[in-house]
Amino acid sequence: MGSHLSESLLADGWEVWGVDNFLTGRRENLEPLRRYPQFHFSRIDVSRRVPRAEVDVIYHLASPASPPRYQEHPLETLEVNSRGTARLLAHAAACKARMVLASTSEVYGDPEVHPQTESYWGHVNPVGPRSCYDEGKRFSEALSMAWRTSRGVDVRIARIFNTYGPRMDPEDGRVISNFFVQGWKGAPITVQGTGRQTRSFCYVSDLVRGLRALAEVDRVEGPVNLGNPDTEHSILEIAEQIREITGSRSKIVRITRGRDDPERRRPDITRARKILKWRPRVSLEEGLQLTSEYFRSVVQGTRR
Ligand code: UDP
Repeated sequence: MGSHLSESLLADGWEVWGVDNFLTGRRENLEPLRRYPQFHFSRIDVSRRVPRAEVDVIYHLASPASPPRYQEHPLETLEVNSRGTARLLAHAAACKARMVLASTSEVYGDPEVHPQTESYWGHVNPVGPRSCYDEGKRFSEALSMAWRTSRGVDVRIARIFNTYGPRMDPEDGRVISNFFVQGWKGAPITVQGTGRQTRSFCYVSDLVRGLRALAEVDRVEGPVNLGNPDTEHSILEIAEQIREITGSRSKIVRITRGRDDPERRRPDITRARKILKWRPRVSLEEGLQLTSEYFRSVVQGTRR
């Protein structure tokens, strides 16, 4: 996400300071940014410190986001969503910068309301395997609101729903990357549980436009859902679709489903449409085709 967002900003003439500690980020995703002289990069963990750069806008995307990865790194996930967010908010205050916080649909937990509107408070297990991420992001939102009301920091909260596209880590562990890698390798496609659970998938370029619109609009109160409401599918349907796109003979196999895995998820984007004049443009078919090419080159070794 960070490299795509940076590339879009650089192409429009912004000077960009990228920061990553590479806990789950990929070094090779910096390559396309290196040709821009106005791109700078620091390998820093924002839970510990932030670069001294004077900035106008902070996009805080730092955090593991894949369930297997944040469950491998629960402390780092909580750190970056607490101390990391606090440091960035303080930096935004010092620079009088705007900040966009990348929050998540996971703040809704396993939702009892469908589709999810921003006014829904969520259904989260505070001590379950997903809580480091869910509660971490909920805390990040609470902290952002506190800095906003008590210190006047202009922070905007994006609740991001499942996003996919080229440059994903093939070992990231999320559904789209797993299924493409399995499809292109001819390995079994691993559906967790019955596969009847649903997600709504947003292509990365749509999300980049959404995040930028959120940063650029004059005024926003409260969180804004960013995701694609027209692509809700069961995981089994996604498995079948990816098997077809990759022309694979992979079998679809059932494996154990993670505890507290949300049953249904689809964003209500009425607020984003109204406030940001934003809506996704890339259909699931188109997005999966573009992503398939990327994973094919990764699996066949023509790309690192
Ligand atoms: N999933 C699956 N097989 C996989 C990876 C994920 O069936 O190899 C399912 C998982 O159980 C969940 C959905 O796909 O219901 C989305 O999982 P993902 O990890 O991509 O993201 P989440 O939306 O849960 O954060």
